[in-house]
Amino acid sequence: MTRRYLAANWKMNVPEEGVDVYVERLANWPVDPDVEVIVAPPFVFIDEVSRVSTMGDRSIHVAGQDCWEADKGAFTGEISAPMLAANGASYVILGHSERRRIFGEESSLIGRKLAAALGNELVAIFCIGEEESAREAGETLTVLESQIRGGLRGLENARSVLVAYEPVWAIGTGKNATPEIVQETHLGIREILEAVVGTDLPILYGGSVSPANAEELAAVEGVDGFLVGGASLDSSKLESIYRSLSR
Ligand code: PEP
Repeated sequence: MTRRYLAANWKMNVPEEGVDVYVERLANWPVDPDVEVIVAPPFVFIDEVSRVSTMGDRSIHVAGQDCWEADKGAFTGEISAPMLAANGASYVILGHSERRRIFGEESSLIGRKLAAALGNELVAIFCIGEEESAREAGETLTVLESQIRGGLRGLENARSVLVAYEPVWAIGTGKNATPEIVQETHLGIREILEAVVGTDLPILYGGSVSPANAEELAAVEGVDGFLVGGASLDSSKLESIYRSLSR
């Protein structure tokens, strides 16, 4: 049985049920040792999530939603990988399409952030994904290859990376990629990973995952878990997605 991952990306939101109640509920889900649960709250809640997450039967891992490339210094508004680790995070999301699109992050910067994360013993959830126009032009794998090369080429210990395939047109739109698209694209990503880093890595799917489609997407060959945005803000929706990964 291979390990699967469920990563909850709150983005700049807080669950309505409250941070402590949310995390306590997750900590008391039925334990499946093969499914790793990761919560990525805004930075200010990392400490709280990691404290509450040790209270239930299962361990919940905590992730930063980003980090800067340097360990410390004059970078107003930023947070570093060692700071995340010191506050209880063991994962960090990097290269999210919102970072690339809204904050103009280029692959070269994402690559340096990945190196900083891995150098500080964090596991990176490295997001890649194509815009709708690229898919329509038949350029999906070209775009993904360029993102993968930019992020992972030359990286030592790339084994501590989870790839999250998140087609931009599926994020927050309610329009998930079909199982056929997910299967075919994950296969293509595996071939690119083999060529670029010489190893297979877990690949999560992200983009409008919900209780309504999780079962079907979890059954797709090559899906090692989910990165969930909107639906992750409600612990009961997230539990239903978790159950779909728990085979
Ligand atoms: C995300 O932000 O990574 C994401 C997949 O969002 P959503 O599930 O809301 O599409």
